[in-house]
Amino acid sequence: MSSGRESAPPPSAIPPLAARVLALEGSSTVESSERIRAAQAAGREVLALASGDPNLETHPAIIAAAHEAMLRGATHYGPVAGLPSLRQAIARRIGERAGTAYQASEILVTPGGKFAAYAAIMATVAAGDEVVILDPAWVSYGPCVKLAGGRPVAVAALDGVDPVLLAEAITPRTRMIIVNSPNNPTGRVLGGDELAAILALAVERDLWLLFDQVYSELSFAKDAFTYLHALPGAKARTFVVDSLSKTYGMTGWRLGYLALPEAAVNPVQKILQHSLYCVPPFLQAGAEAALALPDSVIAGYRERFRRRRDRAVAALNRLPGIACPPPPATFYLFPKIGGDDKAVAAEWFERLSIAVLPGSAFGPSGAGHLRLSLACTDDVLDEALARLARHYRVNV
Ligand code: PLP
Repeated sequence: MSSGRESAPPPSAIPPLAARVLALEGSSTVESSERIRAAQAAGREVLALASGDPNLETHPAIIAAAHEAMLRGATHYGPVAGLPSLRQAIARRIGERAGTAYQASEILVTPGGKFAAYAAIMATVAAGDEVVILDPAWVSYGPCVKLAGGRPVAVAALDGVDPVLLAEAITPRTRMIIVNSPNNPTGRVLGGDELAAILALAVERDLWLLFDQVYSELSFAKDAFTYLHALPGAKARTFVVDSLSKTYGMTGWRLGYLALPEAAVNPVQKILQHSLYCVPPFLQAGAEAALALPDSVIAGYRERFRRRRDRAVAALNRLPGIACPPPPATFYLFPKIGGDDKAVAAEWFERLSIAVLPGSAFGPSGAGHLRLSLACTDDVLDEALARLARHYRVNV
């Protein structure tokens, strides 16, 4: 029955959202994990070689420390920058590993390395600014720059950094160069010369550097690893991004940190004050327990990934048309497949139920490659390699 009143125009389902999020691409890695989870929940068998979540159980000492902290009442707001004892332990860890002297006051505890990178970018990039990203790169740098109103500028660096190309990409709007070593997706480690060239440009053009070292503990030749902040003159213009996620199998704990120049601490801290407040103190107690574990624990994890790497590289190199150099770090492989990476990834998924990521998801320089993650069980890896060998008709 009509009410007799003019009907109002139908409202759209929801009021408008900001272009900032509407225009933003989703994370191909997170979305792939969610697709795999949904397929598995629906009963489909998927051999997942796609995730950046290492299949390491969190060490019981870490869980016990977090549990005790909860029982002790560490369930309230804590200091915004993080627990002083944890900040101290992190500063000590950087000193031991890299030889760079940091004070606890130069450390901010963040929920994961991802938020550390986001906060560093939000603090440095204004609308219209440019940020140089070495390509291929982890999928979240570009979107974080866009969320800050900036423009990501990709510089091809698949096999190394070309200082001439890098210099050409820098304009008066450039604010920061993002450097990730060891690199996701390639597993590549940047050499001291490359880092020195990047630093020289940053000094010359007065730029910030973001050094993402979340895979540094998974470098198989530890002595050959160069920390950007350890180079003379680097610390004062570098945001170091690190995390416990990959080192200790603690992705779900969301524990990371920024090491940054003292003068930037208070400005960056305001982002935490107004968004998260702090990382839950009982989780930080777990982080302290992790950092107190003997290095042999990490060495054991690293060895597991090194063994998987060696097995998988040998098997992949037997497949026609695939070239897979052994990466010096991380649990990723980045074989060249000499074809359309999206089509091959889709074919492996549809015909073999093997989930990997197309290299082009990590930027134009990743095209023609696949990213395989060895953060899976040995059984899943062996079954995937056996299926690939059958598919390509090669005897293993
Ligand atoms: N940086 C790189 C290069 C990564 O690959 C990741 C996760 O995949 C992160 C940072 C963030 O990890 P988290 O937020 O779990 O510490």
